[in-house]
Amino acid sequence: MLLPFSTVVSRTNAVECMPRLPVVVIVLAALTPNSQAVEPVNVKAQAVSAPDTVACYCYQSGGWSIQQTDNFRICTIDRNLKLENLPRLCESLRLDIQATWLSEDCTLWQPRCDVVVHATSSDYRRALGNSVGNSVGCATMKFDQGRIVSRRIDIRVDADHWQLDALPHELTHVVLADRFGARRLPPWLDEGIGVLSESDRKRRFRADAFADALNRGTIYSIHELLHLRQFPRPEYRDAFYAQSGALVRRLMDHGGPDEFARFADRVVTVGTQAALSETYNLDTPADVSAIVDVSEVAAIVTCGGTLDTKSNLIVRRDD
Ligand SMILES: [Zn+2]
Repeated sequence: MLLPFSTVVSRTNAVECMPRLPVVVIVLAALTPNSQAVEPVNVKAQAVSAPDTVACYCYQSGGWSIQQTDNFRICTIDRNLKLENLPRLCESLRLDIQATWLSEDCTLWQPRCDVVVHATSSDYRRALGNSVGNSVGCATMKFDQGRIVSRRIDIRVDADHWQLDALPHELTHVVLADRFGARRLPPWLDEGIGVLSESDRKRRFRADAFADALNRGTIYSIHELLHLRQFPRPEYRDAFYAQSGALVRRLMDHGGPDEFARFADRVVTVGTQAALSETYNLDTPADVSAIVDVSEVAAIVTCGGTLDTKSNLIVRRDD
């Protein structure tokens, strides 16, 4: 039986990003009243100028403070948060990520992406449930017959560098949904792409964490990584993110980002190994291992960022 909706979820942590936990489907439903509350009903809309060229409408509704741009609704119930620069950052990051991963001209997002900003980890867990653990962000897309009917990012802003790491990572998942829809990418591919949207600092952190995992002996063989279907156990997560990011980066470097994006399309159609073979002539896991040796993972993931630096500069100036 086909269900009318399918939902894709992912989360980012300082050390982990938990993708697609079914519990968030329930959480999303529980949050529906809040989602309705952010509709601009019985409110006085005020047009303001966000930094530079981003048009932003700010209003209050149902206890929420909302900043609405062409593609986002940034919502918080904490009026003490200073989020004036977030509209421009979100729009800028969206453009950067789309330029990397989408080949076609991009239309305005309808529906807009809701960015629900939580002041503390307690607020974040209260809204999403304890299953979010120590994650910093969570992206949720909802589909109806392949069409996106809801885009949402929850983010907690008590975490360090959330603008540079969790927000770009989660927004990458949202943008990728424009290309892949409800078709699920394998974890290494989905999260590897997300890792490469993070800051240089975060990827250095991941490289160091991988070195520790290597010492512990908690790393994946390429065969294991390619065929991983479940979110990794905690002791393997450092290796998972670093190895996934390194493999994505190395494949992108091999044939360019456009070829890599077409490869990702083939992955969801014919499977990982068949797509590797037809796109890159990598016929076996051993062939893949040869292009991403364990000794190179840390260096590759450290240097492998994909986003234009201007988005980072915007945030750093505002930090
Ligand atoms: Zn992720």
